[in-house]
Amino acid sequence: MGCLTSPAGQALAHACAPAGPGPPGPGLNQWLAGLNIHVPETGTCTHTRQAPGYRPPDLLRHLIKTRNRTCTYPGCRRPATRCDDDHTIPWDQGGRTCECNLHPACLSICTKLYLKDR
Ligand SMILES: [Zn+2]
Ligand SMILES: [Zn+2]
Repeated sequence: MGCLTSPAGQALAHACAPAGPGPPGPGLNQWLAGLNIHVPETGTCTHTRQAPGYRPPDLLRHLIKTRNRTCTYPGCRRPATRCDDDHTIPWDQGGRTCECNLHPACLSICTKLYLKDR
């Protein structure tokens, strides 16, 4: 897999490559053509990858973790791979299971701290 990243370190696009050794020499173009490139939504979300349930499907989780590399709570540097997928607007309050409403957060630690502060 590979990522195009902006200077700020945010993933601009994410490509899921088939498992196996990296780009082969002679077949590079074919390998590139076979890449499944997902471009995260920017600006107004079109919700093309919105999921109906509470739990985001693997692709959505994967995209969110490549867009946000770490827990989104200020000061927390926990890698997103060890975070849960948190809904910005709670799902039971109408929040979408979509990349525009999901962010990685270590729910057990940061969300509890955050809720305690309010
Ligand atoms: Zn959306
Ligand atoms: Zn955290």
